[in-house]
Amino acid sequence: MINWDAHFCLPQHPQADFSPLDRLHAAGVNYVSINVGADMNPVSQVMSVIAGYRATIAANPGRFRLVSGADQVIQAAADGVLALGFDLEGAMPLMEQPEMADVYAQLGVRQMHFAYNRNNSVADGCHDTARGLTPLGHQVLQAVNDAGIIVDCAHSGRLCSLEIMAASSKPVVFSHANPFALAPHGRNITDEQIQACAATGGVVCISGLSWFLGSEQPTAADVARHAAYVADLVGPAHVGIGLDICITQKELDDTPPGGFAPAWWWPEAAGYRAGRAPAFVPLDAWKSLPLELRKLGMSPGEIEQVLGRNMLRVARATWR
Ligand SMILES: [Zn+2]
Repeated sequence: MINWDAHFCLPQHPQADFSPLDRLHAAGVNYVSINVGADMNPVSQVMSVIAGYRATIAANPGRFRLVSGADQVIQAAADGVLALGFDLEGAMPLMEQPEMADVYAQLGVRQMHFAYNRNNSVADGCHDTARGLTPLGHQVLQAVNDAGIIVDCAHSGRLCSLEIMAASSKPVVFSHANPFALAPHGRNITDEQIQACAATGGVVCISGLSWFLGSEQPTAADVARHAAYVADLVGPAHVGIGLDICITQKELDDTPPGGFAPAWWWPEAAGYRAGRAPAFVPLDAWKSLPLELRKLGMSPGEIEQVLGRNMLRVARATWR
């Protein structure tokens, strides 16, 4: 059994404390995708974070292992260490150079979005005007497919995500997005998007963030409820978990340098407010997920699929 958390955020700082990952490991998680930057982060910050995270992982071989293949995830679990990969939330760190996808893959990036909430030169964000995947976006998509990076449509615009899913040669995931039918937030996804994702062989991973679950103090039961909705719509082979928990450390300032404008990335019109932070499911929600899914009628085999086997399948089809 492999438990896979498809998205987790530590402070975007090279000295981030990795001990929250030990708690996830203790709760039964075997692989975590950790965020190394988004469209709001300049490349200087993304590179600094990647270098810092790689150094922390290398200095703790008894706790963590940066993996590049599905079999390495299984081996790490057998060895009792937590397997890690990096994800990028947006294509702006590629600096409009499709060949940067392979550079990031070499550094440990295993999954990426094409846009974060707002439009960029590659793709549309979910809180911006619908245009669709740009000609550069099609080149980036091919480069991301070729680099063996999982294509991730969380934070992307609805129309654009449908175009990405239609054009991708590999399965596409939503690493942290929930059914709009259960929680009508602009970051959530329609039944049409969920069905298109399943048609690629992909996986919709359920976020543990309050606004996207429609629950002020979210629990594992809320995550299970959203997972069951996706399973009922497209089958348990297309459901995963990406708890999207964001860790902050008061002593580490990870604000993007250079004129960072939070109201641009999290617009008021989409329901965001300055100074208002979301709540997250607790780190050990993973311990309760099997029971909560069982309560909703899933079989042990289906629960194994949802908690990790589906994402392992996507990784096996994509990573090289
Ligand atoms: Zn996100």
